[in-house]
Amino acid sequence: MRYKNPEDREILMERLLREDHLENYELELLDKYGVAIPVMVSATVDDTVLSGMIIDMREIKQSRYMIDKLFKAVEQIDDIVYMTDKFGTISYVNNAYCTHTGYDREEVIGQNSRISKSGVHNREFYKELWTTILDGKVYRNTLVNRKKNGDLYYEKKTITPLKDEDHVIIGFVSTGKDVTEETMLHQEIERIATIDQLTGIYNRHKFEELFALESERSRRFLQPLSLILIDIDHFKSVNDTHGHDVGDKVLVQLAATVQENIRKIDVFARWGGEEFLVLCPSTDRENVREFAEKLRVAVENTLFPVVGKITISLGVSLFDPQDSFSELFKRADQGLYYAKEHGRNQVGMF
Ligand code: GH3
Ligand code: MG
Ligand code: MG
Repeated sequence: MRYKNPEDREILMERLLREDHLENYELELLDKYGVAIPVMVSATVDDTVLSGMIIDMREIKQSRYMIDKLFKAVEQIDDIVYMTDKFGTISYVNNAYCTHTGYDREEVIGQNSRISKSGVHNREFYKELWTTILDGKVYRNTLVNRKKNGDLYYEKKTITPLKDEDHVIIGFVSTGKDVTEETMLHQEIERIATIDQLTGIYNRHKFEELFALESERSRRFLQPLSLILIDIDHFKSVNDTHGHDVGDKVLVQLAATVQENIRKIDVFARWGGEEFLVLCPSTDRENVREFAEKLRVAVENTLFPVVGKITISLGVSLFDPQDSFSELFKRADQGLYYAKEHGRNQVGMF
């Protein structure tokens, strides 16, 4: 047996003579080719008999090295990682967890993972999460969580159940990315794509999308569906007399006035220019005429910025299950034409 560092032999002997006993002493020996082998020595001297054990540490060292490397990787990656027992009590959090949530490690170890609950998701949401992972399945979703300072963040999360050799769940590991910026951007894009920038109500694109849904519902449940087209009377002269900015303010006020007078289920949008549409589910011919009249009166009784009074003309039409949107719109437009032709500030039904 050759020692890589000869002084190890001295230390070993000296300790054995002094204490009769030596445990888990790590050193390196050289094999017959002179290659160093890490070993761990335990030995006892009993009277004159020396007994001992040498353990080859190569495999153990290798796995220690791997564990160390894995641990460093988990510590350092930018994904939010934490581990819990099967009740959700946190046993480990990585650096990214602390950076993203603002919690110190000591504050969260031993706490339940619900400390980051935002209150945004309902009971059903968490029930589905727990049912999935307790069933041994991987759960994936984007969650809204709360940081220590109260701010909310979006986390794209995967929760993986950890199992022992008998496939019994012993805990969970959660990995996630903070996707707040991407989500916000997406929501902003979505908003711009669906909302009219001047008035804040739906735009033409969103209206058409919602029309597709409502017309399908109307066909399936045999519910009446009506359309109201609104056009401001002599709006050109508002612009010509008071300027375009005042015209814009009038449009904003008109949108607000109509909004106040419709039901939650009605779909209200700016069709373009000074034309607006209201799609009215569960509304038949008589109801829509009354409803349009109510809107006309509401506008007539509203005081608009700078210009004071304005009026609108309205065209209404009733959806037929065979209708395309353009057919329904065309009839509302004919109703509007009729109202304009017959003196404005009135409802026309074709
Ligand atoms: P009518 O009673 O026949 O409807 O007369 P009108 O003057 O309203 O005629 P028309 O509907 O043809 O004119 C619409 C005008 O609306 C023309 C345009 O300058 C103005 N307009 C369209 N979009 C906007 C907008 O976003 N802001 C402003 N201020 N004006 C707009
Ligand atoms: Mg017009
Ligand atoms: Mg007009």
